[in-house]
Amino acid sequence: MTARTLEQIRNIGLVAHIDAGKTTTTERILYYTGRTRKMGSVDEGTTVTDWMEQERERGITIVSAAITAFWRNHQINLIDTPGHIDFTAEVQRALRVLDGAVVVFDALQGVEPQSETVWRQADRYRVPRVCFVNKMDRVGADFNHAVRTIRERLGANPAPVQLPLGAEAQFNGVVDLVTLRAGFWAEDSGEDPEWGAVPPEYEGVARSARTELVEQLADHDEEVMARYVDGQEPTAEALRTALRSATLANAVVPVLCGAALRNKAVQPLLDAVVDYLPSPADVGSVTGRDPESGVLVERLPSARESLTALVFKTVTDHYAGRLAYTRVYAGTLRSGDVVFNSRTARTERVGRLLRMYADHREDINEVCAGDIVALLGAKAVVTGDTLCAGEHPVTLESISFPEPVIRLTIAPRTTADEEHLVSALREMADDDPSFHTEVEEASGQVVLAGMGELHLEVLIDKLRREHGVDVRSGKPRVTYRETISKSVSRAEGRFVRQTGGHGQYGHVVLDLQPAPNAGVSFTAALKGGVIPQEFIPAVEAGVMEAAENGAIGGYRVTDMAITLVDGSYHEQDSSAAAFKVAAVMATQAGLAKGKAILLEPVVRLEALTPEENLGDVLSQLASRRAEVLRVEDRPGGIKAINAFVPLSSTFGYATDLRSATHGRGVFSQEFDHYTPVPAEVVRSYLR
Ligand code: GDP
Repeated sequence: MTARTLEQIRNIGLVAHIDAGKTTTTERILYYTGRTRKMGSVDEGTTVTDWMEQERERGITIVSAAITAFWRNHQINLIDTPGHIDFTAEVQRALRVLDGAVVVFDALQGVEPQSETVWRQADRYRVPRVCFVNKMDRVGADFNHAVRTIRERLGANPAPVQLPLGAEAQFNGVVDLVTLRAGFWAEDSGEDPEWGAVPPEYEGVARSARTELVEQLADHDEEVMARYVDGQEPTAEALRTALRSATLANAVVPVLCGAALRNKAVQPLLDAVVDYLPSPADVGSVTGRDPESGVLVERLPSARESLTALVFKTVTDHYAGRLAYTRVYAGTLRSGDVVFNSRTARTERVGRLLRMYADHREDINEVCAGDIVALLGAKAVVTGDTLCAGEHPVTLESISFPEPVIRLTIAPRTTADEEHLVSALREMADDDPSFHTEVEEASGQVVLAGMGELHLEVLIDKLRREHGVDVRSGKPRVTYRETISKSVSRAEGRFVRQTGGHGQYGHVVLDLQPAPNAGVSFTAALKGGVIPQEFIPAVEAGVMEAAENGAIGGYRVTDMAITLVDGSYHEQDSSAAAFKVAAVMATQAGLAKGKAILLEPVVRLEALTPEENLGDVLSQLASRRAEVLRVEDRPGGIKAINAFVPLSSTFGYATDLRSATHGRGVFSQEFDHYTPVPAEVVRSYLR
């Protein structure tokens, strides 16, 4: 079975804060869509999506893949997204290729910091969403509170389309506000619900909630507005249409509720995916660039267009080999096709095309625009590559990854480990572009750089488990940066060589300005033709090269705006190479004069603690140089502390927090910005 039309496809992802119930909900979705024979359970470590042994142990999902399921004659491609914040790069990568998302919340917690991060990223990619308030069966579950946090903490426009029936352990169904009918799940057995009239005691609240929904949608839909003004109830059909278009326009977010673990109210969530989330046809054309000319190219989501596909994830599968998960945006891809990889400018033969289901995989002959497939046998592709038709090449915007902020050295334990280390790392790096490895010049040691402490731990674990390579690791260290603390005007670099015949001549004058949180930028602002246009790219290249090595510790320079203001050239002797050297010299001169300072990465950390341990947790944070931003109340006597903390002083925080809270505290963190290292810390560091 495959979807017949674009309109019948949904490419969606589930995103959530860790522990909100994403895995459980995914499993139930796979169960109800008829693809899993037996319901797995996270608690027993037998889940469908947590197929990596390592994931099972940790109870977290690390790898993005795609699984196909069917619901109401629609094909749903579920793109897996990781739950832990250290892997936001993976979430971003998934957001690039999915058309809509289901955001799962814990009914006790409402919006948690990680869901906030992912929400902002989804905003950036304008991904339409529906929300699922899960765990409605838990003591203290509060649907209205969750909706409020969606409005207040996320600044979204939540539109509840259901009301819960019964509370906590008695939660047993939902009122569908669109149809004004009630669905009951008598038991936890996973049966289909019984739909009937809204119980009398819920009629009043249900009617007023529906009116609120209608008012909310009247702003976005003329038909609903017209009926509303006339005092008529819009039909379920009209309301659904209005909800769909408002959701696609990112104007509202439908909110549903349920208890995935108890098998309650998962089917209506699937209905909502079909009813409210976009199909590839709604998303429309994709744009890329002609790799040769740089001209913008637009491709419609049609099987008849020329092939345009993005590899969004590669996974080395020990049974099948290397799988390249690919989203086809336009055209048709057939097994055996020869396609053009616009990054390598080489052709590649596509081997088998696999459709991945929860419990099996199926060889397919072709895959059309809008769909997702796993390619087998495309050896030279990496994440971010565009595959296209050789006659009509295109490069889609590649997937960008935040730079690693933490690193440690690793050393193989035995000679056998040493032999395999390099190839194992290469294979892992192919599949996970969010980490880097390099050999440290001074010591000759191998360095692993990644997104956080846990990310590195997982990588080392993976080396051992999947590649049989055992390593000893050093202490994690953060990656520092440098910047200038004052403006420098007219930093000069002059490269002149007179060696017999042809000489070398380049002369560059730069202004340097601090630019907080803006990276390094280069602008040419020359008066007249003091440097010919053809040499400007070489100047820029020299500036960027010099910015790789700062004046204090040779760290990369950031947050600095560089302007080319003056210079001179020589008719015969000037060359791009000479200007590049002059630009390096000028930048180095500027950095030396700019009172360089050391910057360190700072994370945004949220720690949850029982109220009685608040004092201890705060004083622990203070000793870790935290800047506390706010302390909020959470249900159940929990305090949420939000703080900026230098990444270097978060190492080992998990243990501290656990001991201060008798194991009840939890925290999450994500990279936020770079900030100057205090003088006393610099001194101890440089010593
Ligand atoms: P993930 O980290 O978001 O993937 O969350 P999991 O699906 O692994 O669930 C985290 C924990 O919450 C597990 O112990 C689940 O059994 C539990 N859980 C998930 N859904 C529900 C629910 O609807 N009700 C209750 N009471 N617990 C749930």
